[in-house]
Amino acid sequence: MGKQKGLLIVISAPSGTGKTTLCHMLLEEFPNMEFSISYTTRKPRPGELNGRDYFFVDRETFERMIEEGDFLEWAEVYGNLYGTSKSQVLKALEEGKDILLDIDTQGALQVKKNFPEAVLIFILPPSLKELERRLRKRGTDDEETIKKRLRIAREEIGKALEYDYIVVNDILEVAFERLRSIITAEKCRTDRLSGEIEKLVEDREIVELIRKA
Ligand code: 5GP
Repeated sequence: MGKQKGLLIVISAPSGTGKTTLCHMLLEEFPNMEFSISYTTRKPRPGELNGRDYFFVDRETFERMIEEGDFLEWAEVYGNLYGTSKSQVLKALEEGKDILLDIDTQGALQVKKNFPEAVLIFILPPSLKELERRLRKRGTDDEETIKKRLRIAREEIGKALEYDYIVVNDILEVAFERLRSIITAEKCRTDRLSGEIEKLVEDREIVELIRKA
C-alpha cells in the first residue's frame, strides 16, 4: 500500500492559549506529522536555534523570497515578517507527511485561499480573563506587552468563524482529544481518498468495486 498524500493542518490561537503545548502533543501523537519551520526576520530569543525553531533571515533576504514567490503565505506580526516556505511544505505533503503550521490569522486565511484542502483550526481560550491570567503566569512579558497581546487576541478571535474548526482549550486533555479527532476524521474524508483508493486497501477487488460504482 502506498502512502496517502499528507494533510496540511493550520493552527492559530492568541498567544497564551496553549497552542505550543497542543502542537507538541500532536507531533508526539502522529509520528508522520512534521512541524513546518517558518522564516522570520525576528531576532532569535535565548535558547532558539536557527533551523529548528525558525530560519532567521534579514529583511532583505525575506523580501527577495517574497518577490521570488517562495512563500505559501507570509505576514507581518508584531513588526516582524514571518513566512512559510512553499517548496518545503508541498514536497513534504507529496511524500505523505502531515504538516503542521502554527501561524497567525492573516497567514492562515492566505493558506485557505491558495490551498483549499488545508484544515484550519482555531484554538480559543475559555475566557479573556483566563487568557490574561495565563499570560501573567508565564512571566515572560512586561505589562505593556501583555496589554498588546490582549488587544491583538481580541482582533484574532474575531477571525475564528473563518476557520474550519474551533476548539476551546479549557482542559488541556479535552482540547487535545478534540484536535486528535479532527485530524483523524479529516484523513478519512471521501474527497481526500477518492483519487487514492488503492493506497487505502490492498484488495484489488474492493478497489475495482469502488471505482466502478
Ligand atoms: P513568535 O515570534 O512568538 O514565535 O510568533 C509570533 C506569531 O507569529 C505567532 O502568532 C505565530 O503563530 C506567528 N507565526 C509564526 N510563524 C509564522 C509564519 O510562517 N507565518 C505567519 N503568518 N505567522 C507565523
